[in-house]
Amino acid sequence: MDTQLKGARVLVTAGASGIGLATALAFAREGARVHVCDIDETHLSKAAGRELSHSVCDVSDPEAVAQLFATVTAKLGGLDVLVNNAGIAGPTAPCVEVKLADWERTLAVNLTGQFLCAQHAIPMLAHSRNASIVNLSSAAGRFGFPNRTPYAASKWGVIGFTKSLAMEVGPLGIRVNAICPGAVEGARIDHVFASRARLRNVHPDVVRDEALARISLGRLVTAEDIANAIVFLASPLGANISGHALPVDGDTQALF
Ligand code: NAD
Repeated sequence: MDTQLKGARVLVTAGASGIGLATALAFAREGARVHVCDIDETHLSKAAGRELSHSVCDVSDPEAVAQLFATVTAKLGGLDVLVNNAGIAGPTAPCVEVKLADWERTLAVNLTGQFLCAQHAIPMLAHSRNASIVNLSSAAGRFGFPNRTPYAASKWGVIGFTKSLAMEVGPLGIRVNAICPGAVEGARIDHVFASRARLRNVHPDVVRDEALARISLGRLVTAEDIANAIVFLASPLGANISGHALPVDGDTQALF
């Protein structure tokens, strides 16, 4: 299937690892010109290699985001696709024990970061004939997630932001969608299972098994599954899809 993304100008935030890196490489395989940013300079330059242009950016820092978009303009000469991927897990604790600084940091990266990037991207995307923003939400943006209130609040916020922005910028020809990944195989979810297991005083395998029991397909998803969905949504193949929050989660019925 031809995704018609050859030459498309794409920015993926937090592209040094995980879903961001898989997504950046998937766009590059389709012939797109891809810029990735990340807060982690060491991993970023290794991961990006020669295929992806890259620069350091903390998406919660307005000045750093302004610099990022100046760099993207210089390197790509415009923008067709913004993938707002940067997100942190935040604390695992009952709400009454969550530190205000941790709550604020989680919202700053997961939600304000998307807002800041969108503000810079929209005027650029308005000049594109296939303009698209894909925001990373989560299954935690569809279900309640006890002991992860900052993360869940930020990811429900992403869906409200996505649906409102889609209505606002649709008349400019810009599509805005969200992806809600389920638990993705890898170090991040192992850490999430371990944190939850510590809180409940059980083995991490107990938490993992409980999670799998709530997924109809009985398996975790991969970063590549998420990347494929993002590439499809952002490509001309998704030309009339906007304002959606698409789960890619093996049919998850509840969180663990
Ligand atoms: P990850 O933890 O594997 O990678 C995150 C990357 O983000 C790292 O390279 C890190 O350096 C970078 N980063 C952290 N803070 C940053 C900041 N302030 N500015 C720029 N970069 C920053 O993450 P992932 O699992 O690939 O998740 C990517 C997105 O998908 C996130 O928004 C996450 O919430 C969402 N998600 C992940 C899962 C999962 O199971 N992995 C499930 C649902 C949703």
